[in-house]
Amino acid sequence: MRMSRMFLHTLKEVPQEAEIPSHILMIRSGMLMKVASGIYDYLPLAWRAIRKAEQIVREEMDAAGGQELLMPAITPAELWVESGRWEVMGENMFRLKDRHKRDFGLGMTHEEIITDIVRRSVRSYRELPLILYQIQTKFRDEPRPRGGINRAREFIMKDMYSFHISWEDLDVTYKAMYRAYSNVFLRAGLDFKVVEADSGTMGGDECHEFMLPSESGEDTMFLCGKCGYSANSEMARFHYQKPDDLPPHGDPIVEIDTPGVSTIDDLVKFLKRKPSDFIKCLIYRVDGELVAALVRGDRDLNETKLRKALGAKEVELATPREIEKATGGPLGFSGPVGLKGIKIIADYEIQELRNAAVGANKADTHIINVSFGRDFEVDELAELRQAVEGDCCPRCHEKMTAERGIELGHIFKLGTKYSDSMKATYLDEKGEDHPIIMGCYGIGVTRIISAAIEKGHDKDGIIWPMSLAPYHVVVMPVVSSNEDQASGAEKLYRDLLERGIETVLDDRDLRPGVKFKDADLLGFPIRAMVGERAIEQGGVEIKIRGGEKPEMVPADKAADYIVDYIKKELDRLNGLRTAQEKEEEYVRVG
Ligand SMILES: [Zn+2]
Repeated sequence: MRMSRMFLHTLKEVPQEAEIPSHILMIRSGMLMKVASGIYDYLPLAWRAIRKAEQIVREEMDAAGGQELLMPAITPAELWVESGRWEVMGENMFRLKDRHKRDFGLGMTHEEIITDIVRRSVRSYRELPLILYQIQTKFRDEPRPRGGINRAREFIMKDMYSFHISWEDLDVTYKAMYRAYSNVFLRAGLDFKVVEADSGTMGGDECHEFMLPSESGEDTMFLCGKCGYSANSEMARFHYQKPDDLPPHGDPIVEIDTPGVSTIDDLVKFLKRKPSDFIKCLIYRVDGELVAALVRGDRDLNETKLRKALGAKEVELATPREIEKATGGPLGFSGPVGLKGIKIIADYEIQELRNAAVGANKADTHIINVSFGRDFEVDELAELRQAVEGDCCPRCHEKMTAERGIELGHIFKLGTKYSDSMKATYLDEKGEDHPIIMGCYGIGVTRIISAAIEKGHDKDGIIWPMSLAPYHVVVMPVVSSNEDQASGAEKLYRDLLERGIETVLDDRDLRPGVKFKDADLLGFPIRAMVGERAIEQGGVEIKIRGGEKPEMVPADKAADYIVDYIKKELDRLNGLRTAQEKEEEYVRVG
């Protein structure tokens, strides 16, 4: 590619909304153009990188036994209604109607569609296991899209689904996916960490996330330096130690008027006390029954923990009407004092509370001076809150560290959630019907690119891993108008093209400084320069992006040098993959 002909529109000014390095650099290098909030054009350089990421993903999924297909992006509501997710997806789903006023949703994930394929085609255990995947544009109406393609509303994802006759069989594929995912990220040059979700009960929901540690990440990982426990913020457990002595109970409870004050923030202002002096009382519908769950005012309740503590299948916040029926008061004024006829479960910390403020189960009323054990009891104590920085490891009780990260991929044992609700079954050897056991596995393909840039950049621009670089080499005459330099560069350019190397010739008649700046910004792994000094010495100056000083290589050896370097780099990345494969089969980290 000649740079003079290249679609290249670098920018000096970056829009204010671009805050993280990958977003800034993709805009500055002219790889992305914003069409609407969270929706981008992938311009030619970006698209080359994305297709490379896609190809790595495809190769690894195929190697692990996957078969690629393509499902529609426009998906009929009926399938989502069947699984119960037409409601659940809420405003995250883009919805539309066809000319017959039938409802459709733009695909944000494809469990329903693929389960429909399988229930309509698979009959016998002989046809299982089956692993199907697609690489496709996904849609998610994010409330706050940001970070460029790191959290966009339209993005490319690889989603894979596996179908099995038993949990043991699912386990085999799950392990293969764990390896395949590691391979993908190693080849993309990303030093990932794997965090585990709570392994949960038999029957399901084991799940691992592949994370890139990064300040720009929106997720938090909790890591134990001592025993290796690692989990994402949604799943992280911790060790709770009840204090030996608690302060005595204080004054008796008092009801106070709190007109219109229904949130913790409002209460903090109104009563001039700390958020930790309050008890949040949340009413949930748990497998059809209402339950009150208590956490301290400054804590976030973790619904997964609540579900597990209650041994429930599903937990969902109750509606205002249900809350009114169960507590007698409106939403925002629930509290445990005098609450009857409903199960109360509390986070361990609630036992420590003295002089707390709670809702009075009456409109515009709260109760203060509330003490656990004196003014209310609970049916059950459990770990319900999210982990926070400084919590101790659930296994070895050492202090955990919290680190930010970007989620790269996710593997998940679904079990029979979809096969049950959508009746996807197979016949066993005896001709008996069983629900198919499923796994699902996702990778954000466009996010691999933003993650690679988060990891590989400096103040001048992008530092691509060889495996994702849109082009491997830029060849440039330092002064394009100099005939010797121009013809020297042209010769090397042609040599490299002939040898199948993805090469750009910077033939633009621009000042050398501008060309160097662009080369650094775009992040070509190799820059080959033919300047005055090179011509004098019969050589080519070769500089590795992110490396030390340029090296002078004899002109007739330059192409070999470059070809070798690229091969060596790609082999190194692939070598990480092989080394990892030879290592332990499957590392349980959680
Ligand atoms: Zn530990």
